[in-house]
Amino acid sequence: MIIASIHPPSACNGVDHVYWAASPQGDFTVKSAYDLLDQSRVQERDSYWKIAWSWKGPQSIKIFIWLVLHNRLKTRAELATRRLNIEPSCERCGAGLENTIHVLRDCPYSKAVWLRLLRGNNHQYFFQSNLADWMSANLQVQSTSVGNKLWRVIFGVAIWRLWFWRNRFIFTKDHWESSAIALDIKVRAAEIQRCNSSLTATVKSRVEKWIRWGAPTWPWVKLNTDGAKKPSGHAGAGGLIRDYRGVWQISYCANLGCCSVTSAELWGLFHGLSIAWLHGYRRVIVEVDSRCILQLVSNSNPTINEHLSLITAIQELIGRDWLIQMNHIYREANAAADFLATYSLVFPVGLHYFQSPPLNLLTILNNDVSGVAHSRLVLL
Ligand SMILES: [Zn+2]
Repeated sequence: MIIASIHPPSACNGVDHVYWAASPQGDFTVKSAYDLLDQSRVQERDSYWKIAWSWKGPQSIKIFIWLVLHNRLKTRAELATRRLNIEPSCERCGAGLENTIHVLRDCPYSKAVWLRLLRGNNHQYFFQSNLADWMSANLQVQSTSVGNKLWRVIFGVAIWRLWFWRNRFIFTKDHWESSAIALDIKVRAAEIQRCNSSLTATVKSRVEKWIRWGAPTWPWVKLNTDGAKKPSGHAGAGGLIRDYRGVWQISYCANLGCCSVTSAELWGLFHGLSIAWLHGYRRVIVEVDSRCILQLVSNSNPTINEHLSLITAIQELIGRDWLIQMNHIYREANAAADFLATYSLVFPVGLHYFQSPPLNLLTILNNDVSGVAHSRLVLL
């Protein structure tokens, strides 16, 4: 390919000489070499992005695919390179290096699962390629056949579940047979495929929108709040404030005991506004993912209902001498507040502040600040 794109030498062109194609003068410079390398990295990043986000299925798996493509899994090999006091070997099979391709494909425990999933298919090259080629070959659309689309779904679910089972083994020593894991993967993939098919049927009336959290402009800060309720009836609220750089400032959560989800969301908003006021913020963009909450607090003449005192308290806060912008966002852009609302349930009843972001929140904060987008079908 490269040779084909170069014009062949000819006597008319004078004496042949070495020419560095990455700079206009033909001279080699370190800067031009760096630029060349960086250009290919950008193209690589773009193609990884497309592979991950074109996969049809739950966001959690898309994010997982994205992490794998960027080699971000915390395998033992990866942890060992960070000089953590850890052996890089595989705890399951004893192989010398537990890297991403080993966990997801080459470890005998994973391989046994793949052989069950690949049954009847040609898998001559399946176990030979490197991680990036293996991922793109199995996740990209190569044909429109139903079988090919289903394989993409199975593959995405499989790597996600194989990582889950690897972690389960490491932390609890629990191990399932390959037949049971393969069945678990097939059942989940079939369910996703069913959802994909029904979405395709209704897709004409909807349009795909990319949803992402965005930092406010200086000098505003952004307050995201949310409420959550478990099937057990337990409810919690949570929220956080970030500045114009997207940098975490404060987060809080409140275990509310048993109450409605509307109450939980109102509590999330109330605590968030109170905290923002107490910390001296005077320009605050507030984002919630419930239109109902926005309607309740924007009604200047609220009807008498169980939430009235809370709504009145929120309205009193909003009416103070500061600038407040109340916005609705899709829940995909409110993941950090949603996490904190659910996280509240591991604490005793009451309000809790965090001196630093909880560890499990860090991934969401990183995704938000780096602009990770989630696709959502919204009505036209
Ligand atoms: Zn292994």
